[in-house]
Amino acid sequence: MKFRNFKMVDYVVYGRGCFDQVDEIIAPHRKGDAPMVFLLDHFFENNNELKARIPVRANDILVIADVDHEPKTSYVDEVSQMLKDKFGTVSGVIGIGGGSTMDLAKAVSIMMTNPGKAQDYQGWDLVKNKSVYKVGIPTLSGTGAEVSRTTVLTGPTRKLGMNSDFTPFDQIVLDPALTKDAPKNQRFYTGMDCFIHCVESLKGTFINEFSRSYGEKAQDLCEEIFLHKDNWDEESDEQLMMASYAGGMSIAYSQVGVAHAISYGLGYLLGTKHGIGNCIVFNHLQDYYPEGVATFHKMLKKNDIYIPEGITKGLTDEQFDIMINVSLGMAPLWENALGKDWQTIMTREKLRAIYEKL
Ligand code: NAD
Ligand code: ZN
Repeated sequence: MKFRNFKMVDYVVYGRGCFDQVDEIIAPHRKGDAPMVFLLDHFFENNNELKARIPVRANDILVIADVDHEPKTSYVDEVSQMLKDKFGTVSGVIGIGGGSTMDLAKAVSIMMTNPGKAQDYQGWDLVKNKSVYKVGIPTLSGTGAEVSRTTVLTGPTRKLGMNSDFTPFDQIVLDPALTKDAPKNQRFYTGMDCFIHCVESLKGTFINEFSRSYGEKAQDLCEEIFLHKDNWDEESDEQLMMASYAGGMSIAYSQVGVAHAISYGLGYLLGTKHGIGNCIVFNHLQDYYPEGVATFHKMLKKNDIYIPEGITKGLTDEQFDIMINVSLGMAPLWENALGKDWQTIMTREKLRAIYEKL
């Protein structure tokens, strides 16, 4: 048995208002004239109060991240090429936003020091060189992208992350005040990403005590927020931010499972977003995660959230095949969920039947 020796985020600052320490935190990482690049989620494009607090100095540049679609490898190439053309090199990349903006920041920082195209690095341990300094600052809680060793990208032939020891952030800034304006539905979908990470990690075959300790804590926090509390308050933002972190830590030693494997197919073919896509799938997974799905249904009711149905209606056989291929390509997820013999359990027919229900 070989145990995973995983790379973690180097520095973590947590606390309401800690965003104001960014200037001081990044100062030692400035290299001469090379700028710091602030990638800001487009949700904040007109938020002058937040923008005024971003320490844009000297040659620094603020780039608005277009996250209408979740990050594509072509967008990563476009942003990194623009930075190379303009500056040659940069001191660092700081992603401020949801999971999409943080993933974009991770990928752009990697492409500043690695040759070729972003699509060349989709997979496991393909990144060759250390990235430029990178910082993740979440404004939505749930994905765990702030702690993970991957950045999920849609490329020309697949939806797959750059999984590597060079992917985790050098620094994360966890300021729960940044998540306060998230709309209820978005907050729920991204929060459920965290809840589903926990269920899939805890019920998976890869589980060990390291993952369980984090996963149980994160799951309890999600249930406290989405099931037991009647109103959203400052404490809820704090709890969900820590749930996201712990949920991400839980996956470091295990994996996600059935909902994610199926949701990747939806994302690839239909562009369905990660959070809502996981909810659409998880809604129908009572055979695989009976307790988790029962709790999820209670959370939907309590928070008055509607999950779309019938999104695969009318798709062609060819389209179903595309989703099935993407999904079955996620071998580690299936192995975690169903064990070593997963291929005999999750046949193409069975998977098609699940896709048809969505
Ligand atoms: P997101 O980043 O895609 O953002 C969703 C929407 O919310 C966007 O329109 C964004 O502009 C907006 N938004 C961001 N912050 C906001 C705020 N404070 N208030 C209001 N709106 C805000 O959503 P997400 O669920 O955080 O992230 C999903 C992405 O994360 C996907 O691309 C997925 O692949 C990725 N992901 C990555 C990992 C990883 O380990 N790297 C894990 C899970 C998911
Ligand atoms: Zn997820």
